[in-house]
Amino acid sequence: MTQQTRSALKELQALDERIAEVEDKIRDFDPLFEEVEEPALILQSELETTRNRLKEMKVEERRVELATQEKEERLKKLEERKKSVRNLREEAAVSAELDMLKRSLQSEEQEAYTLIDQIRKLSEREEELAEAHAEAEAQVEPKRQELLDERQALRDELNQMREQRNAFSESIDNREFRLYESIRGDDNRTAVAPLTQDGACGHCYGMVPLQLQTEVRHGSELIRCEQCGVILAAPEPEPEEESTEETAKAE
Ligand SMILES: [Zn+2]
Repeated sequence: MTQQTRSALKELQALDERIAEVEDKIRDFDPLFEEVEEPALILQSELETTRNRLKEMKVEERRVELATQEKEERLKKLEERKKSVRNLREEAAVSAELDMLKRSLQSEEQEAYTLIDQIRKLSEREEELAEAHAEAEAQVEPKRQELLDERQALRDELNQMREQRNAFSESIDNREFRLYESIRGDDNRTAVAPLTQDGACGHCYGMVPLQLQTEVRHGSELIRCEQCGVILAAPEPEPEEESTEETAKAE
């Protein structure tokens, strides 16, 4: 309940701010992990699509092949039959069927060529993708490990700071510590602020009545800002107010 406890609260708050900063940094790692894995994942999905398409095209190629074989057999049979026709009418009929079959075979051959060409191109693309994917995959692990190490270092730092905080908080007056905790809450609100040189609250800048200013300066009673509720501490000792604020921000 002395001025000393108030400066302990300020010290605790500075520590809590550093802890919150490190916690933020640790959270920022999540998207970084996704970023590292993303290129390999994109290539993998492209590779899978290409492989599926290739499989479909090979099935189609097989279908065309079988259809061609079947027509070639029919063609052979028809040519045999043409040799043994008994009259002109029959010959004309066989010839007409032969022509139709030949045209159909031609267009099927064309289809087969196009397919073979597409399959060749897609196979090349598949090879390129597989290579790029393997390369990207090989890069993921070292980068991931690097991130894991960096994050672990921060977690170690955080644990140390939390231990330090626990030890430090035991030295603080219990009532003041509980009040500090309740103002700070779960979302790290400002709980302690010094008076400014001209007697305003250092958090909301509302003027503090003279009588309360005196009490804050003496430090005998714990005084809270009537407007924003923070615990008021004596003004920072340095006369240049700006440089003090700068240092506080920099920490
Ligand atoms: Zn205030």
